[in-house]
Amino acid sequence: MSDDCIFCAIVDGEIPGEIVYEDEDVLAFLDANPLARGHTLVIPKAHHETVSDLPGDLGAAIGRVASDLAPAIESAVDADGSTVAFNNGEAAGQEVPHVHCHVVPRFESDGHGPIHALFGSRPDLDDEEIASVGDAIRDAQ
Ligand code: AMP
Ligand code: ZN
Repeated sequence: MSDDCIFCAIVDGEIPGEIVYEDEDVLAFLDANPLARGHTLVIPKAHHETVSDLPGDLGAAIGRVASDLAPAIESAVDADGSTVAFNNGEAAGQEVPHVHCHVVPRFESDGHGPIHALFGSRPDLDDEEIASVGDAIRDAQ
């Protein structure tokens, strides 16, 4: 529990949430300002800020719940698919510093495009640059 964290307050029942799933470690509730009907947030009950801060199997547990909930959410609002994503860190647009996975129902006709649409243009990387980025990531683990 972190003071002043709105999602910790939902976990603790201090503020209301439209809860759609709960187990020992994970809670899922409807987004209060949804991007689409059925927009759901899946969170760890414990306060952790980003995906990389999640200890042990908690990241896997959140992924499992999001995977299991997505078809139920899609079915409940008659969606054709869903975007399942984390805004991971402030630079990526994360506003609530308690890690959460968005499950946003998608409709054939919604016109919002894929996650790729966030990025306007793509960097022009040649094979050597791609290989060097691969090396850097392998080295950083
Ligand atoms: P992000 O920008 O990834 O941090 O997303 C935060 C999300 O939390 C937004 O989609 C908000 O609409 C949602 N949100 C903020 N406060 C609440 C709340 N009290 N209950 C449910 N959802 C909330
Ligand atoms: Zn929190």
